Amino acid sequence: ASDPTTALQADLRSKGVRYALASFVDLHGVSKAKAVPLEHLGQMMAGSELFTGAALDGVPQEVSDDEVAAVPDPASVTVLPWQPEVAWFASDLHLHGRPFDACSRHILGRVRQEAAAMGFRFNLGIETEFFVLKKGAAGGWVPFSDRDTLDKPAYDVRGLLDNLPWLDELVQAMNSLGWGVYSFDHEDGPGQFETDFDYAEVLTMADRLTFFKLMAKEIAHRHGLLATFMPKPFGDRTGSGAHFNMSLADLQSGANLFATPEATPGAVTRLAEHFIAGVLRHAPAICAVIAPTVNSYKRLVAQGSMSGFTWAPVFVCYGNNNRTNMLRIPSPGGRVECRAADISCNPYLGGALMLAAGLEGIREELDPGAPNLVNAYTLSAAERAERGLNMLPRTLGEAVEAFAADPLAESVFGDAMYKSFISYKREEWESYHSAVSEWEQQRYLEFF
Ligand code: GLU
Ligand code: MG
Ligand code: MG
Repeated sequence: ASDPTTALQADLRSKGVRYALASFVDLHGVSKAKAVPLEHLGQMMAGSELFTGAALDGVPQEVSDDEVAAVPDPASVTVLPWQPEVAWFASDLHLHGRPFDACSRHILGRVRQEAAAMGFRFNLGIETEFFVLKKGAAGGWVPFSDRDTLDKPAYDVRGLLDNLPWLDELVQAMNSLGWGVYSFDHEDGPGQFETDFDYAEVLTMADRLTFFKLMAKEIAHRHGLLATFMPKPFGDRTGSGAHFNMSLADLQSGANLFATPEATPGAVTRLAEHFIAGVLRHAPAICAVIAPTVNSYKRLVAQGSMSGFTWAPVFVCYGNNNRTNMLRIPSPGGRVECRAADISCNPYLGGALMLAAGLEGIREELDPGAPNLVNAYTLSAAERAERGLNMLPRTLGEAVEAFAADPLAESVFGDAMYKSFISYKREEWESYHSAVSEWEQQRYLEFF
């Protein structure tokens, strides 16, 4: 039993595990897997599980092409808290024994190596906002609690306690995995919640967010509910962000390289400013990846929410603790929060492009200019022009063209994923753009 896989198999057997999942994500960050009886763990770890790329979004393969193999990462082993007979493994895709170009996890791995060569470890915390809803008696989706009807339900205690049956199960599950949940709350939409847990190295965090989405959906489903990661389910309500809280640490010592020695509230180091400048430079292309759906752009608006503001960013700017900035420097400082990301994003691809942009900023010692310290929503067009504040892309169509035009996006994604992301997202945009909506019919059909 000196072979590590044999030891892992024995350990999982002793925990009652009977099946293992060789899991990976498609273009959208959605989990896909084959299940293997535990007796076959050795073969699975060696890459026995094959997948037809043509069946998956974002895998540029023909039906006639060879299959891709999922090669599980043993460090990612996670026994499903709600179904402990199953163990989950995050995997990298391989083709003909070599890393597969269009694998999200592999793309992040490449940028991580680049960071490591520069002496950095990228730490990431992702805040998970999402809606949990039930089918309404009169159709449509409504909150689980009938009392969840406030115009401003942010931080509502009654709504939170009413939802505790499923929330408790989810939070306990997260903590049983050692994720360190430190708070959860009712967010600003009816049926909207957020769970916050410890940051981790970017690959671990991307694996966790991927697993989180699966787990939240499964646990909600067991309570007869739908957990949705659609960014803006209701036009008049707040959307669901996935704020990326980012810092670089010294690879050797683990020291936070964004934190100033005096730990001044809301301050970051010069290195962090270079990182910020790199992200600002590539913001439109990054936006395509961290706000990747047609619906994402209905979230990135200032007003129109029943609560007044949406708390989502609209302009390419950075600054202090103020929530109108795309990149916010929360107090007590030492990290940068990207608020443009929404919960539908693929965290491997988002993490990869964000990190690569930050590293470019560091290499070129870019300067982010003056921070924005005011409510960006209320600045007039003239004031914004004076400050050089550009808007984030307004639509998926705009974002995907910015992505296509950005050489960094091409080099980070690699030829295969770059092309397949663009063609999938252009098609998604065109399909939406050519559909005639109810809104248009109501507005124009009788009017003209
Ligand atoms: N739900 C808001 C968003 O879409 C964020 C609210 C908050 O700051 O927590 O980004
Ligand atoms: Mg929040
Ligand atoms: Mg936040």
